[in-house]
Amino acid sequence: MAKKKKPTLNFATDWSYAPAPESTDHVTIENRYDLFIGGKFVPPSKGNYFNTINPATEKRLSSVAEAEKTDVNRAVKAARTAYDKYWSKLTATERGKYIFRIARVLQERAREFAVIESLDGGKPIRESRDIDVPLAAAHFFYYAGWADKLEYAFPGRTAEPVGVAGQVIPWNFPLLMAAWKIAPALAAGNTVVLKPAETTPLTALKLAELLRDIDLPPGVVNIVTGAGNTGAALVNHPGIDKIAFTGSTAVGKIIQKAVAGTDKKYTLELGGKAANIVFEDAAIDQAVEGIVNGIFFNQGHVCCAGSRLFVQESIHDELIDRLKDRMETLIVGDPLDKNTDIGAINSKMQLKRINAYLKIGTAEGAELYQSACAVPEKGYWCRPTLFLNASQSHRIVQEEIFGPVLAVQTFRTVDEAISKANNTPFGLSAGVWSDKGAKVFKVSNQMRAGVVWANTFNKFDPSSPFGGYKESGVGREGGVHGLLPYVRLT
Ligand code: NDP
Repeated sequence: MAKKKKPTLNFATDWSYAPAPESTDHVTIENRYDLFIGGKFVPPSKGNYFNTINPATEKRLSSVAEAEKTDVNRAVKAARTAYDKYWSKLTATERGKYIFRIARVLQERAREFAVIESLDGGKPIRESRDIDVPLAAAHFFYYAGWADKLEYAFPGRTAEPVGVAGQVIPWNFPLLMAAWKIAPALAAGNTVVLKPAETTPLTALKLAELLRDIDLPPGVVNIVTGAGNTGAALVNHPGIDKIAFTGSTAVGKIIQKAVAGTDKKYTLELGGKAANIVFEDAAIDQAVEGIVNGIFFNQGHVCCAGSRLFVQESIHDELIDRLKDRMETLIVGDPLDKNTDIGAINSKMQLKRINAYLKIGTAEGAELYQSACAVPEKGYWCRPTLFLNASQSHRIVQEEIFGPVLAVQTFRTVDEAISKANNTPFGLSAGVWSDKGAKVFKVSNQMRAGVVWANTFNKFDPSSPFGGYKESGVGREGGVHGLLPYVRLT
């Protein structure tokens, strides 16, 4: 007798949630934002502004100043003056108090920051509310605590600030990246010029308002908006003592060349292509959750995303069935809806890049699977995607896609898993799923990756260092390690 097929629930058609939109009436977005230099908002020298849009609706949210070289000069000068005249002379305890204040006010205004982050960047409100903003505040709290304890951070050494830090951040975690950069810089006694990404400048500008409102001394933090040219002007400025960059490996290489032969300190947090390895003895449902979180969190716009899945051959079919079932339950749509799991792709350009990889993967011979969910008509969207039967030489396996696209491969032995996982130009993060502690230790010790998660994925904490090997970058951010690039030790 033929086996009866079990009835399946089609989440795309049989199940729907009532909308649960987060309100926006407590949020003010100005029609236009100037540059934040010397504690004030000032117009850009050439009077140019560019639009920032909501990627979920394609509607304009605001216009933002485009900083020219002269504006970057002004900002660096303001940061230098603030450093010489005020910030470097302040006692460490007083410096710490300012940073604690930033953390507290950020917490108080968390809802406003979360909504703006979701509007400007497209990420689900559940993530901006529960991860981005609380973690950003946690970074300020954490580093505020270090401000008057630097002698304990580096026992037997004296830690001096380096001076003015130039910081360039990407669009995937706009506020959180600003916090990762600004908090340790200020705690160690430096002043800052920060350039947010072109597509997501609004939470950095809100942060500028916050810094002004808490009376942070003028010039201690300056925020210059603009495109890649503004970033390049900042990086190449001779008045910058330390560069902190998060973004693509391609731009990271340009920056590394630019600092060669100077005495600028630098840290580069670049791309990744993390292996997520599931052994046959893993708790399979837990692993499926970890895979989903690893690749679909923040639409896959995550440098440490678990974008290469390695499944032990014996459990491949069962795991993939369960993963597909789970993917069918994921809701793609309005980032402000609290039911949404996957929001909008950050920009038209990024969607184009992801779609190009979908074509490349198919042409390379991998098998494309996408969940059947509905997506809104307007805006930039990509359904959660798997590429099955991928192989090591495929571009979708070797290159960073930065979208909700997972390349799946199999392995038979522990050694095969390790060698396949390490066969990548990147080395930012990895995940290992197994019931056996000894196996987890063996594999994680042999991963050439800055962070290895065991039976979990994408967990972050301000006290934990983060950074890469190989083309994933240079230096560490977070924890005591994250203070090191901002000090000179004697
Ligand atoms: P970029 O590396 O171009 O952007 C990161 C930041 O650097 C932005 O603020 C950008 O400005 C700025 N920038 C661009 N060119 C220069 C330059 N020559 N000198 C100094 N600063 C510069 O990333 P993209 O936005 O172009 O994304 C491209 C790809 O990079 C993605 O598909 C993804 O693969 C990867 N990426 C990785 C990230 C990570 O965290 N590892 C983060 C973001 C992207 P602007 O925004 O105006 O271009």
